Amino acid sequence: MDFALPEQTITLGQNARKFAQAELSADIAQRDKRGAVDTADWRPLWDACANYGLLGLALPKALGGGGHDIQTTVHILQELGYGAPDGGLTLGLGAQIWSMQMPILEFGTEAQKADILPKLISGDMICAHAVTESHSGSDAMALTTRATKVDGGYVLNGEKVYIGMAPACDLAFVFATVNPDHGAWGVSAFLVEATSDGFIRKDQTQKMGTRTLPFGALEFVDCFVPDTAVLGKIGAGNAIFNRSLEWERRFIFTSQVGAMARMLDDCVSFAKTRDVFGGPIHTHQSVSNRLADMKLRLETAQLMLWRAAWEADQGAWDMARAAATKLHISEAYLASAMDAMRNFGARGYMEDAEIARNMRDALGGITYGGTSDIQRQIISAALIRS
Ligand SMILES: Cc1cc2nc3c(=O)[nH]c(=O)nc-3n(C[C@H](O)[C@H](O)[C@H](O)COP(=O)(O)OP(=O)(O)OC[C@H]3O[C@@H](n4cnc5c(N)ncnc54)[C@H](O)[C@@H]3O)c2cc1C
Repeated sequence: MDFALPEQTITLGQNARKFAQAELSADIAQRDKRGAVDTADWRPLWDACANYGLLGLALPKALGGGGHDIQTTVHILQELGYGAPDGGLTLGLGAQIWSMQMPILEFGTEAQKADILPKLISGDMICAHAVTESHSGSDAMALTTRATKVDGGYVLNGEKVYIGMAPACDLAFVFATVNPDHGAWGVSAFLVEATSDGFIRKDQTQKMGTRTLPFGALEFVDCFVPDTAVLGKIGAGNAIFNRSLEWERRFIFTSQVGAMARMLDDCVSFAKTRDVFGGPIHTHQSVSNRLADMKLRLETAQLMLWRAAWEADQGAWDMARAAATKLHISEAYLASAMDAMRNFGARGYMEDAEIARNMRDALGGITYGGTSDIQRQIISAALIRS
């Protein structure tokens, strides 16, 4: 493995950081407080990211994408995360790219790819990843949303909860069962347009962190979708779900690793300038140890991310490694957000403080994409099998 990034990739990263600082940072404390209720708060930023080319980085040029490999894409999104203090936006972008676009690229028909991916890249269409239900979170394949075969397609009935972009989506990547008796093997994936009759976008749900990301529930009431809306084959939903989660677990924290680097830089600056007991706080070993721990977490998170990117470029798949990547980075992000909170004292705890917002944003990461408990279970099950 070569860790030296090409000059061109470094430049792309520097530009992405500058773009995020200039275009995605304004008014973040107020937008976070308002909580994505107003489309005007987040939509212009989403469109700016699309216009910049961020939503198509890893997709083929023929579809309007940037045609970059995964290592380059990861570097650019990491730098974006350094520049953008908006964890809701970067989570939304990451989910769109990794959990939705990549599986559609992989499993979609030529017609689906040609129809949907250019619109997702341009930002004209926003997709939601609709898996979780009130009774099936960790046990995702215990879902009960039903897809009943009818002439020319399927009729969906059910409700999905805790869905990023739900109140604003134009399309949903929905997992539903065509045969509950077959368990996970009865599940199929559908690409459902929000204009379909019986597609109901519920109101915005407020959450403690990543508040700039629209969030809510989707309900399907006798919602007809044509046969052409099936992604992959009927009954292949479990395999498609696993692949989309493998993308998600490897890369959804890419921009958050950039945020970890920003938090560390902020903590170092503060430790040099905040005087307590007659000197800067970095002279107290408890504070400097926390800086060292944050640096270590950043380095290990980056290494896992780079390995995951290298593996993806080789076409190598391994759910247990993806789980380890997700587990380590999400917990490292949270631990470092907590250390930043300790270092900043009361300043970090104030409502509008970036340190407090990082902490709230980081807390969601131990749950979405599967909880840390579930990642540990996947890793240990692979060890026992080996
Ligand atoms: C910010 C955010 C964004 C999200 N975005 C989306 C989205 O876009 N689309 C979507 O479909 N979902 C989304 N989710 C939902 C997320 O995927 C689920 O919340 C997650 O899978 C956990 O499910 P649950 O909340 O039902 O917890 P539960 O499954 O009820 O788990 C509760 C507790 O039990 C533990 N537990 C459960 N089973 C086991 C087990 N077998 N072994 C050990 N411990 C176990 C869990 O680790 C947890 O501690 C999002 C969630 C958050 C917080």
